[in-house]
Amino acid sequence: MPNKGKPTATPAAKVTCTYCGKTITKGKTVTAGHGARCAAIAKQFTPAQLQQHYKKLSVAVVPQGFVTVGALDKVVKGQRHAVPGLTISKMVKSFGGDRANLPPANPICTVYYMPNRHRVVHGWLGTNEAFFDHLVLKQNQL
Ligand SMILES: [Zn+2]
Repeated sequence: MPNKGKPTATPAAKVTCTYCGKTITKGKTVTAGHGARCAAIAKQFTPAQLQQHYKKLSVAVVPQGFVTVGALDKVVKGQRHAVPGLTISKMVKSFGGDRANLPPANPICTVYYMPNRHRVVHGWLGTNEAFFDHLVLKQNQL
């Protein structure tokens, strides 16, 4: 629609988080250059180091035998009655957290990122063997 000569307010320059690229608006976060959710990561990595980190964890296609974290979540929910205390968040913790910024609890817990940002993990993690023998024990030690 044509503007009938009325001056429009110039939108303030968009500031984005140097870590995740999301738009940030609050004064304190704009000054810091990253949002509150990325503050913990900022202590650990520079933006360039974080990019390098994710580069190492990026795959173009789902590796053989891997499943998405979403699919694993469904398995976990289905097995919750059989494995007391089992939750997807405990498992994600063993992958190095939501953003995989911490080392995995075990190499088999390494999470990889797809180009669509979906995370994939080894399918073994969705087996009862993993739930009982490995992860649950591992989590209790964390
Ligand atoms: Zn961020």
